Amino acid sequence: MTYSLYLHIPFCRHRCAYCDFNTYAGQDDSLPAYVNALCNEIKATGSSISSRERVGDEGSVATIFFGGGTPSLLTVTHYQDIFQNIFEHFTVSPEAEISLEANPGTVSPEYLKSLRKIGFNRISYGVQSTNPLELRMLERIHGYGDVVDAVRWSRAAGFENLNLDLIYGLPEQTLESWQRTVKLVVGLRPEHLSAYALTLEHGTPFGRWAAKGLLPIPDPDLAADMYEWTMDFLAGEGYVQYEISNWARENSKFQCRHNLQYWRNLNYLGLGAGAHGYADGVRYSNVLRIKTYIDRLSPPLPSSVFPLSPAVVNHHRNTPREDMAETMMTCLRLTLEGVTDETFRARFGLGLLDAYPQEIKKMTSLGLLEWHPPAPGAKTLRLTRHGRLLGNQVFMQFLD
Ligand code: SF4
Repeated sequence: MTYSLYLHIPFCRHRCAYCDFNTYAGQDDSLPAYVNALCNEIKATGSSISSRERVGDEGSVATIFFGGGTPSLLTVTHYQDIFQNIFEHFTVSPEAEISLEANPGTVSPEYLKSLRKIGFNRISYGVQSTNPLELRMLERIHGYGDVVDAVRWSRAAGFENLNLDLIYGLPEQTLESWQRTVKLVVGLRPEHLSAYALTLEHGTPFGRWAAKGLLPIPDPDLAADMYEWTMDFLAGEGYVQYEISNWARENSKFQCRHNLQYWRNLNYLGLGAGAHGYADGVRYSNVLRIKTYIDRLSPPLPSSVFPLSPAVVNHHRNTPREDMAETMMTCLRLTLEGVTDETFRARFGLGLLDAYPQEIKKMTSLGLLEWHPPAPGAKTLRLTRHGRLLGNQVFMQFLD
């Protein structure tokens, strides 16, 4: 069995106004204890995997992803400790993709060199925009100059797989401003780009300001224009769109293997405060708060029943029907790969049209889903170009 590991680092220098992630500013004093607790969770979870699953030609762990929060706030020594525990308690593939999410402005040439040396081979930078006013509105702590430096230093450190994250549909953002951001970041030649539409999340300052009419609501039509322009522009620049919001340079080896594991609805283990996981048919989530997480992972630890560590506060064993629906919703995000009849049948024992005849008929007749290749005997179902704009409406069809 192959797993992906997600490790959550819930620390940030500053809490951005639009962010609803489980992350905290001003709690850096807890960092050493948190890393200790994370190592204890790695040990507990790794030890609970049966020994049968820890051997295999390709190793049990194919991808490792440190997300946040701001994982680049951890020191190299912290990562050395964490890696030692991962490699001791899991069998990691020698080809594993090992990614770090980082904020420009929190890295240095020496830090990046050390990270590369200890095994990281992919970095994802949260760029969001290159426009100083937009960055200020988002309350980001970096400027575009920090992005340029971070990319240059990453290349010098030996990173050959970089992602840059962008956000479009910002309040008062114009199409021209968005185009300028995309063109500038493409000029940095990252192997991978992500572009997400801003969502005004409940409970965030952005959400509250918008509700009170203090923040100009992003125009959905303009956001759609930005997205359509991005699809065309990036195709012309040699980037292949393989997911609704993600593009990789021609070579598919730059597609994010960690996220592909989520989108294919396969096993991943979530470790850290607020992390989510899905393994052996069980979905689970960990306790949110840093202090409670540390307390729960302080020895002596109760024994764990895989995949549930002492940090888990919610878990649910999926029914086959729930697994099917989740597979449709996640696989259909993959704009090239979609969901194939063969894979679906191998996993659930029935074909796509047996499981969802009405839903597929309705979505294909509305031009939101299509069979590929578009010929008799077609086996792969995927979103149309128009369907990419209305993905959530398509996914809802598969919920019972
Ligand atoms: S840096 Fe990222 S994770 Fe941290 S508060 Fe800002 S948006 Fe959220």
